[in-house]
Amino acid sequence: MPEEGILAFKNARIITPMRVIDNGVLIVRQGKIFDVGSEDKVKISQEGEVIDVAGRYLAPGFIDIHLHGGGGADAMDATEEAMERISAVHAKGGTTSLVLTTLTAPMKKITEAVKVIESVKGKRLSGAEVLGAHIEGPYFSMEQRGAQNPKFLKEPEPEEYMKLLNESDCILRVSAAPELRGGLELGRELKRRKILASIGHTNATYQDILAAIEAGYTHVTHIYSGMSGVRRVNGYRISGVIESTLLLDELTTEIIADGHHLPPSLMRLVVKAKGLDKVSLVTDATRAAGLGPGRYSVGGLETIVEDEVTEGFEISTEKGNYVVKLLTREAFAGSAALMNRCVRNMVRLVGLSIQDAVKMASINPAKLIGVDEKKGSLTKGKDADLVVFDEQVNIMMTVVGGRVVYKREKLG
Ligand SMILES: [Zn+2]
Ligand SMILES: [Zn+2]
Repeated sequence: MPEEGILAFKNARIITPMRVIDNGVLIVRQGKIFDVGSEDKVKISQEGEVIDVAGRYLAPGFIDIHLHGGGGADAMDATEEAMERISAVHAKGGTTSLVLTTLTAPMKKITEAVKVIESVKGKRLSGAEVLGAHIEGPYFSMEQRGAQNPKFLKEPEPEEYMKLLNESDCILRVSAAPELRGGLELGRELKRRKILASIGHTNATYQDILAAIEAGYTHVTHIYSGMSGVRRVNGYRISGVIESTLLLDELTTEIIADGHHLPPSLMRLVVKAKGLDKVSLVTDATRAAGLGPGRYSVGGLETIVEDEVTEGFEISTEKGNYVVKLLTREAFAGSAALMNRCVRNMVRLVGLSIQDAVKMASINPAKLIGVDEKKGSLTKGKDADLVVFDEQVNIMMTVVGGRVVYKREKLG
């Protein structure tokens, strides 16, 4: 997908994200970053287009390793048109790479979705590039199912998941509850295949998590959502998945930073306990992302999207920052956020620098799925996946493989 054209960005505050370069210049050639540095060091040649970003930020495009849909489409729709719509809407939020996530469903349906994800993987779409698939379910705990359809939950069966893993070449990540019968065996198989083994929708104890790490699990899916905390048995306290994640350096995790799932204090607690390198931001977006309020079906469950500003919450959330809930309003069912909102929340609600918030949406997730050699930072030779935004993280321009896929307005 390399683009022949030469693009030069100038007058940019470049977030690499290891450092910030003021008055920065970045040159794109044939879809790759050809050069990057301060304007006195990097020469802009006569050929190609020059884009003056007028002092705004230029950062690595965001990498979302956990999202289901957007723009009215869901990965489970299993059509190329659905993937195309998801790609387009998330590019508006500054996302350049997607790991499309399936939901708990009959294995036949999951396999169909994975086949279509594979067919669009690495292809030129109208927005973000699809890197591969994240299998979220069906191997989950009934108690911690959240919005996963209980009808199809089950224990991991090798003959079933081996078939899925053997038939597809695009699975980057699997979330499962390791305490289920067969859960550790699944973890070992994922590790053997270099697929990110992620602990999710789980009622595990601390002891279960230690065994899971030994088996090969390294990541924890949306911390605080769909997992156990401290429980008491005969008066004794037993640590759950939350405490294990915060405590154990062996584990990385991800935050649904839509401003609803976790209050600022919990987001801050996660960052404080895990550090800036072990937390990634995810949207966990549903088909409602990029749409207005209404009712939508997610994995066979009815959900409602509304503009909720919760009384008694730590913050009053911004208007237009919609929540997605089951119709009963008992639980969230994914989010309606695009990634720029998540980055903004980490700055506005958690108090991170823009540089650190960007890191959690770029190089950190890139490392988790093993694409950091070509994506995740603004480094010579990497893919020209870029995003331009202002102080409030409003996206001005999104560039995928050197190609402008979204532009909000005049930059000058
Ligand atoms: Zn989930
Ligand atoms: Zn999810």
